[in-house]
Amino acid sequence: MVSFPPIRTLVTHTPLTLLLALSGCMGEIGEPVDFHGDEGEDVSITLTDQTVRDFETGTCSTSAVAPLSRQIAEEMLCIAPGVLVELTAGNGLTFRSSAVLPFMEAEAAQDLLDAAAKRPIELTSGFRTVVQQYLLHRWRAKRRCGITAAAAPGNSNHESGRAIDVGNFGSARATLRAKGWSDPLSRDPVHFEHRSSPDMRGLDVHAFQRLWNRNNPNDQISEDGDYGPGTAARIRQAPARGFAIGPECAGQASDNWIGDSCETDDGCDLPSGAGTCESWIDTDVGRTHGMCIDSCTGACPGRVGEASTFCADLDAPEGTCVAVANGTTSNCEDIAGTEATTVRRFQINGQLSSTVETVCLRADAVGIECSSGGQTGECINTKFAACTGESATGACPGSSDIRCCLGASERVPEPVFDCTVNGTQGTCIDTNTTSCAGQTSFGACPGGNNIRCCTT
Ligand SMILES: [Zn+2]
Repeated sequence: MVSFPPIRTLVTHTPLTLLLALSGCMGEIGEPVDFHGDEGEDVSITLTDQTVRDFETGTCSTSAVAPLSRQIAEEMLCIAPGVLVELTAGNGLTFRSSAVLPFMEAEAAQDLLDAAAKRPIELTSGFRTVVQQYLLHRWRAKRRCGITAAAAPGNSNHESGRAIDVGNFGSARATLRAKGWSDPLSRDPVHFEHRSSPDMRGLDVHAFQRLWNRNNPNDQISEDGDYGPGTAARIRQAPARGFAIGPECAGQASDNWIGDSCETDDGCDLPSGAGTCESWIDTDVGRTHGMCIDSCTGACPGRVGEASTFCADLDAPEGTCVAVANGTTSNCEDIAGTEATTVRRFQINGQLSSTVETVCLRADAVGIECSSGGQTGECINTKFAACTGESATGACPGSSDIRCCLGASERVPEPVFDCTVNGTQGTCIDTNTTSCAGQTSFGACPGGNNIRCCTT
């Protein structure tokens, strides 16, 4: 007898049809249609020599490639330190299984943890590597596992590091929204995105390509971060339990440089060592700015393609490495909140030739030490602070409002900055220090991730 599909195929198809109706497969404009939901249970198989291709059938859980995926995430951290953080279960956060890779973009992770601390959140999918996406895509092509849509590997918004699928999406929705997560896919209510975070799609592909080349010296592929036929062929052959030679960060030069924008000192891991993130509020426009600086005694490091640097004398015990105002920095336009200011070189005992340079200094120089008439003081913005003693002009960089206060200074109450979200007026608040009685939103206020528009 010629074989034909057994009747029970129809039975197993029924829930698939149901799932299609529930989760839908329509993409929103600008986003590929994708799989959103449960990446499966923990697999109970012992990984030996199976390749990724071996799991195109026989399982419906991406946990089969969890060890390889973890290597890719760790290699991404070698390429771009700090780009992902590792999450741990607890404090309200749970993972459906080891198929959910516990890595996430740093700011997205913080807002997820904040939300979970208020209301429990169960992740059924989070950050996916190109290998997990490869399997989901193949299962879709083979009409397996009830998957009705899956973006091409390299293109999934789950590879961005800022997307999650939530098991208890109904009860968690309001809390996630209040913490900066949006739920943009009306037909996929399980799906949330943290859109103020950077989209890192392609970095996972780049990391896989590096791992492949490190382990296959006689079969090198392009390390371009693009998913093409060459990369697809190697993903099929890659060992599910991970490569023999794992992630390697050694020799990876830091990407941070003098003058780079930053929020904390962690964002100023300079090639010369740990730098400092100098941050300030530009009270004229209400923006929080930060730039990487370093201490120096006369000279500062240089690097091809980066801003030139100068050891500036800012009336401090040590010099300060800052970026030079020239074409590389577009005369300081590339360093938000700074302006071109001519300063002396810092030097000890006059060993170096005395010289001046025009560098990028904070336009609002509040907080910098200054001196006038033999007395030392602190630069204040007289618009927003009152000096109880004498204040001298011309001793601080920046506008004429910035003066050197030689006595004690008192801050006047912070100015209030207004914002508007969907036509509703609100106030910009620092969520690290101020709570909002209503909803907080991104994008409507200048400054760091913590400065949000509070509407009630
Ligand atoms: Zn999703």
